[in-house]
Amino acid sequence: MATNRTFTMLKPDAVEKGHVGAILEKINASGFRIVALKLTQMTTADAQAFYAIHKERPFFGELVEYMTRGPIVAAVLEKDNAVEDFRTLIGATNPADAAEGTIRKLYAASIGENAVHGSDSDENAAIESAFHFSGREMF
Ligand code: ADP
Repeated sequence: MATNRTFTMLKPDAVEKGHVGAILEKINASGFRIVALKLTQMTTADAQAFYAIHKERPFFGELVEYMTRGPIVAAVLEKDNAVEDFRTLIGATNPADAAEGTIRKLYAASIGENAVHGSDSDENAAIESAFHFSGREMF
């Protein structure tokens, strides 16, 4: 298995509830190496662009409001099989369906406010990492 990278955001609900430390610890304990990290806040235009694939969905407006209402923690993570293993670690989109011990099971409140993002492909991981970080912010 190749060592590769994925992109994550600890979403505004996770930051508001003070779960950043616990989630980063779980990410580290699961074998991911943090290669980029920052606290930042998305603008409306940022969130609309980041989630453009969902722009026709009924929850799009709610998603943009949620993702811009406060700071997020953005990070790039490195591990063998990073994209797939991180999706497993975070669990299903809806925390009600997420496996025991996953980040969303532990920290998410609802399908909308689900604590954490994880890229769904190597291609999107690269695009999403470049959306938030310059080359010299990634190590
Ligand atoms: P994932 O983040 O698990 O890849 P999606 O790409 O389908 O899930 O959706 C992106 C984000 O949009 C979700 O993480 C969640 O915050 C929000 N979302 C998805 N489905 C719904 C829904 N039915 N109602 C409200 N928000 C949703």
